[in-house]
Amino acid sequence: MRNRRPCHPIGSWLHLLLIIGLLSQRAAAQVALIVENAILVTMDDSSPEPFLGWFSVDGSGRIAGIGAGHPPESLRATNRLDATGKIVIPGMVSAHSHLWSAPFRGIAADQNLLGWLAAAHAPFSEHYQKGDFAAYTRYGALDFLSHGITTCYNWVWNDGFPQAYFLEQFEAQRGLEQRFVFGWALDARLDEATNHRNLSEFLAYARPLVGQGSLLDVSLSALGLLRGPEPFPQWEGRWLKEFGLDAQSHYLEDPSIQVQQRAQWNILKEAGLVGTNMMFAHFIHPDERILRDTAAAGARMVWNPLSNGRLASGLADIPGYRKLGIPVGMGLDGQASSDLSDPFENMRMGLYATRMKHQSAGAMSTHDILAQHTIRSAEVMKVADRVGSLTKGKFADFLLLDPLEPDIGPLFDVIASVVMCCSSRNLTAVYVGGNCVYRDGSFVHHDFPAIRRDVYQRVDRMRTAVEKQKLPVTIWQKHMANLPRCLGCLPETSAPAK
Ligand SMILES: [Zn+2]
Repeated sequence: MRNRRPCHPIGSWLHLLLIIGLLSQRAAAQVALIVENAILVTMDDSSPEPFLGWFSVDGSGRIAGIGAGHPPESLRATNRLDATGKIVIPGMVSAHSHLWSAPFRGIAADQNLLGWLAAAHAPFSEHYQKGDFAAYTRYGALDFLSHGITTCYNWVWNDGFPQAYFLEQFEAQRGLEQRFVFGWALDARLDEATNHRNLSEFLAYARPLVGQGSLLDVSLSALGLLRGPEPFPQWEGRWLKEFGLDAQSHYLEDPSIQVQQRAQWNILKEAGLVGTNMMFAHFIHPDERILRDTAAAGARMVWNPLSNGRLASGLADIPGYRKLGIPVGMGLDGQASSDLSDPFENMRMGLYATRMKHQSAGAMSTHDILAQHTIRSAEVMKVADRVGSLTKGKFADFLLLDPLEPDIGPLFDVIASVVMCCSSRNLTAVYVGGNCVYRDGSFVHHDFPAIRRDVYQRVDRMRTAVEKQKLPVTIWQKHMANLPRCLGCLPETSAPAK
């Protein structure tokens, strides 16, 4: 008798089991991380109110789901983060920065911009050596990260250095977790053909790297009017068009040159530097015509209250600009002029100065100023599709704030407490792409004391070289003459015995 074939051959059973397995796996979706029990401040315009909730992060570091209450029971995660009692906000965005300048803080404290440039930068400029820009950029980027700034626009410096030194700034930043838009800068010493070739070669190299690692985009750190009315605006205007680039330019910062710079507005316009491709950094002293033109052209601006206060540059009328429809982001500028990279200080400086000027608490809300340092800055940098708010599909770049350490009192209005009561001291952890990069005062992946020691030794070498030149005694030399040198060069001391 011929064996009857079983109704469900063994192969079919295996198939069935496989299908059931796949279906149940789909029902219990797997994510890389679930953050739960958080007081969420998303800064997504569609959910302006804070709420108690959760979000999940997929394997590519993006937010896969977000909601109030508890995550669905079917959601499985490789890691879970219980954020009970913590406020979670998006990583801060600095839309105008000079990371290499981080080691030069606290210099020329009583100088306006031009005097500060002369005292804080000029004496050092001829003493940079190979490796300095990489070390200083790394140090500056980590300083930003430790204060909760997870994205920045790096307006770099390219002034009389070998091209390789300049590129160190790009490579150093690419090796770190902090996301960035890199602004290529022309070299004012070089002729048009050489600058054009350098820019073209850089873009051919850098553009394929956009979207890989921490590089969000490439842009142009425009010289604009910094070196006089020509030829840079004309070159830059042409090359923005030719290469399809966006640019950022300092404009109307120091009050002592505002009359002269306003008079040169037509030069910028005619060069093609006033349009949707331009962000003006500082932009403190525009007249009515400049404001109208800026709004009509769709140009943007970046406000830097700490730096503007420190250098006595003035207070931009942000409510007035926004009324005209000019998009406004915020930056910490270089650490050499904001000194402390604390975005909470930056927000308070801007918010309170604006309220003082207008003598109205309604001139700017706490939500407005937090939005300006997060989502509005991302919009101004044209990277809001990826960062700036806790939104499904964007990178999971977020900060954990502990309102109890140091204690900021019971929470009545979460956003007001974040803006008015918090500082970097409340920053418990910084996450980029769902990965913790900084926790409880330490970097997860970097030996910061070693990085700092290297930076301090390099700066000490430069100071020694400056002092040998016997330049007229600068303000910083006068104050520093009797202080011990290079405290940060010393090896880490062990904790004192109890
Ligand atoms: Zn600047």
